[in-house]
Amino acid sequence: MNRYDAIVIGTGQAGPSLANRLASAAMRVAVIERGHFGGTCVNNGCTPTKTLVASAYAARLARRAADYGLEVGPVKVDMARVKARKDALVDRSTKSLESWLRGLNNVTVYVGEARFRDAHTVMVGAQTLSAERIFINVGGRPHVPDLPGVRQVPYLTNESMMGVDFVPPHLVIVGGSYVGLEFGQMYRRFGSRVTIIEMAPRLVSREDPDVSDAIRDILAAEDIAIRLEAKCLALEAAPEGVRINVDCQIGAPSVAGTHVLLAVGRVPNTDGLGLREAGIETDERGYIKVDETLATSARNVYALGDCNGRGAFTHTAYNDYEIVADNLLSGAARKVSDRIPIYGLFTDPPLGRVGRTEAEARREGYPILIGRMPMTDVARAREKGETQGFMKVLVDARSKEILGAAILGVGGDEAVHSLVDAMYGHLPYTVVQHGVRIHPTVSELIPTMLGELTPLT
Ligand SMILES: Cc1cc2nc3c(=O)[nH]c(=O)nc-3n(C[C@H](O)[C@H](O)[C@H](O)COP(=O)(O)OP(=O)(O)OC[C@H]3O[C@@H](n4cnc5c(N)ncnc54)[C@H](O)[C@@H]3O)c2cc1C
Repeated sequence: MNRYDAIVIGTGQAGPSLANRLASAAMRVAVIERGHFGGTCVNNGCTPTKTLVASAYAARLARRAADYGLEVGPVKVDMARVKARKDALVDRSTKSLESWLRGLNNVTVYVGEARFRDAHTVMVGAQTLSAERIFINVGGRPHVPDLPGVRQVPYLTNESMMGVDFVPPHLVIVGGSYVGLEFGQMYRRFGSRVTIIEMAPRLVSREDPDVSDAIRDILAAEDIAIRLEAKCLALEAAPEGVRINVDCQIGAPSVAGTHVLLAVGRVPNTDGLGLREAGIETDERGYIKVDETLATSARNVYALGDCNGRGAFTHTAYNDYEIVADNLLSGAARKVSDRIPIYGLFTDPPLGRVGRTEAEARREGYPILIGRMPMTDVARAREKGETQGFMKVLVDARSKEILGAAILGVGGDEAVHSLVDAMYGHLPYTVVQHGVRIHPTVSELIPTMLGELTPLT
C-alpha cells in the first residue's frame, strides 16, 4: 500500500495545478494519468482545434487577398503541414506538462487507469494507493450515439480528427453545435465540401435564435450546406463513403459524403472508475454529483472539471481547481454558483458569450433592457474588412446590472470580457458605459450600445 495525503486522478485542466498547490502545502500527492498528459483541451480539444482554426483563417484571408489590394497565387492547403503545425504545439504542451509534474517536489506520477476500491483507496494496475483526500478530474470523451448503422461504417470524432492529414472531399458532420461548427468551417476553408446535419430546428440551439440565425448565414455564405430538423438519423455504407439518412422535412432524405464526423456531445469518463464501491453518487447521465464546494457524496472526495457536469470548458475546470484549493488551503468559502457562465465559439467571426441568454433572462422574469449593434457599425471591423455578425447586451431594468451579452463578430471572444468585471462586481451598466475605450477597437462600441438600450417587449 502506497500512502499519500492526496490522490489526484486525471491531468486535465484542474488536476495538475491542484497537485502543485497541495504539494506546495507540504502534502504528499499521487497523480494518476491513463492517457496523454493535459487531457482533452491540450490533446484533442482547445489547443489543436484553435491551432487548426488559425490555419483555416489564414487560408481564408489568403483567398480574400484581393479584397485588401493584394495579389497572391492560388491558395493550396498542405494538410500534412497544417497537421504538423498542430502536432508540434500539442506535443510541446503535453510533454512540458508531464515533465513539470514529474519534477514537482512531493508529487509522484503514476501512469495507468485509476479505479476506486473504496472512498480512500485507489488501484492503478497492481498498485494500491490510499489517501485521506481524493480529487477526481477525469473529464469526458465524445458521445457516440446509438444510431442505426453506426457500428457498420467508419466515423470520426474530435479525437480521431486529430490524426487527419488530408482534406476529406466531402465531410458530413452530425451535430450543429460548438464542436461541429468549428470543424465544419475549418474544413470548408481547407477545401472540403461540408454538410452539417443538426436535429434541432436551428444551429447552436442553446443560444438565442438571432445568434443561431446569424451563424447559419455566416456558414452558408461559405457554401457550407446545413440540414436542420434532421430526424431518424441512420448511417450506411455508400459508394462515396457514407450515406446518412436525415429524413428532413425539407430537402433530400439523405446525404452522402466521403467522411462523417460525429459531434453530438460528450459523456463523462466515470463509468470505469468504481464510483459505486467508493459511495460516490452520479446523476442519470454519469456526471458526479457535487455540492457548491465540489465535494462528492463521499467524505473528502471532490470532483473537478467536466466530470461534475457543472462546466464544460477549460476555464471552468481551472476555476474548479481554484475553488477547491482556496477552500482547503486558504480558508476561503468559494462556491461554484458564484461563477458567471462565459465561453466562446471559435468560428470566424467568433462568438463571445457571457451570462444569460435572452431566453434565460425572460424565463427568470427580469424586466429587460436590450442594446444591439451590427458589426458594420464598428469602425475596427470595417477597417479589417470583417463586418459579419452583431453584438447585443441585456440589462436588468430594475437594478441596472448587466444580465448577459453575446458578441458575434471579429474580436468578440476578447471584447466580451469588458463586461465581466462589472457583472462580478454587481455594478450598474453605466459604469461600463462611462468608461473610455481605445479607438479603434471592437470594445469601444460597447459603451455606445449601452447608451442606446430599449425595453425588450
Ligand atoms: C473539440 C473540442 C474543442 C474544445 N475547445 C474548447 C475551447 O476552445 N475552450 C474551452 O474552454 N474548452 C474547450 N473544450 C472543452 C475542454 O477541452 C474541456 O472542458 C476541458 O478539457 C475539461 O477538462 P477536464 O480537466 O475536466 O478533463 P480532461 O481535459 O478531459 O482531462 C481528463 C484527464 O483524465 C484522464 N483520465 C480519465 N479517466 C481516468 C482514469 N480512470 N484514470 C486515470 N486518468 C484518467 C484522461 O486521460 C484525461 O487526461 C473543447 C472540447 C472539445 C472536445
